[in-house]
Amino acid sequence: MLKMNNIKKVFRTEVVETHALRDFSLNVDEGEFVAVTGPSGSGKTTFLNIAGLLETFTGGEYFLDGVDVKGLNDNQRSKLRNEKIGFIFQSFNLIPDLNLFDNVDVPLRYRAMNAKERKERIENALETVGLANRMKHIPSQLSGGQQQRVAIARALAGSPRFLLADEPTGNLDSEMAESVMSLLEDINQKGTTIIMVTHDPKLALRTPRSIAVKDGLVSEVVRKEAVSEANENVAAFA
Ligand code: ADP
Repeated sequence: MLKMNNIKKVFRTEVVETHALRDFSLNVDEGEFVAVTGPSGSGKTTFLNIAGLLETFTGGEYFLDGVDVKGLNDNQRSKLRNEKIGFIFQSFNLIPDLNLFDNVDVPLRYRAMNAKERKERIENALETVGLANRMKHIPSQLSGGQQQRVAIARALAGSPRFLLADEPTGNLDSEMAESVMSLLEDINQKGTTIIMVTHDPKLALRTPRSIAVKDGLVSEVVRKEAVSEANENVAAFA
């Protein structure tokens, strides 16, 4: 579904050239939940922004659902992004003076959809995250965990195939982080593919696969099923 081969990204200013990604390769299948870890500055956000078509790349190949991203112009890229991708950010990025209903509506305004369908989608998305009874509240009336739930509802309202999350629990205490992670796991179980950048090793341990990024490359891939099978084999021979 998501296929990156040798992606390169260079940021250039007049004085400095930063190779944020060098030969970054990754395949993510439909329905996967992949955690992305790695030190600050290793290229995780750059990868996520390229995956989410927010950022272009300097070299390599990227296919999203079979579409060769390199060949797209800006309009085609935005269209593909609106159709396929939902984003969640560490800082929630809600609009402070809009109520929850209107916040979730924001990305739907760019979709060809009548008012009735929009309303249904917004209500369903807020229901999914357990906030259907707060539609008229504004973000500041909610806890951090609830605000992140609204951001997740906003991402889900467009029925994305991919949910890309950049440190979604980074601003939350451990209890709220736990509830947001459980919600993401439920959403993944229902079929949405999720890629989540996280600094939290406990969360990275919970996903079936995690990758570690270092110096703009995937430096390690851990498939936990394989790890537990290997451990069982070792135990069987012991
Ligand atoms: P991470 O998310 O792992 O902390 P980033 O992807 O944000 O890493 O950054 C990777 C590298 O690219 C860093 O050296 C960072 O300073 C650089 N970088 C990221 N975005 C830009 C930008 N817009 N302009 C210049 N350099 C950038």
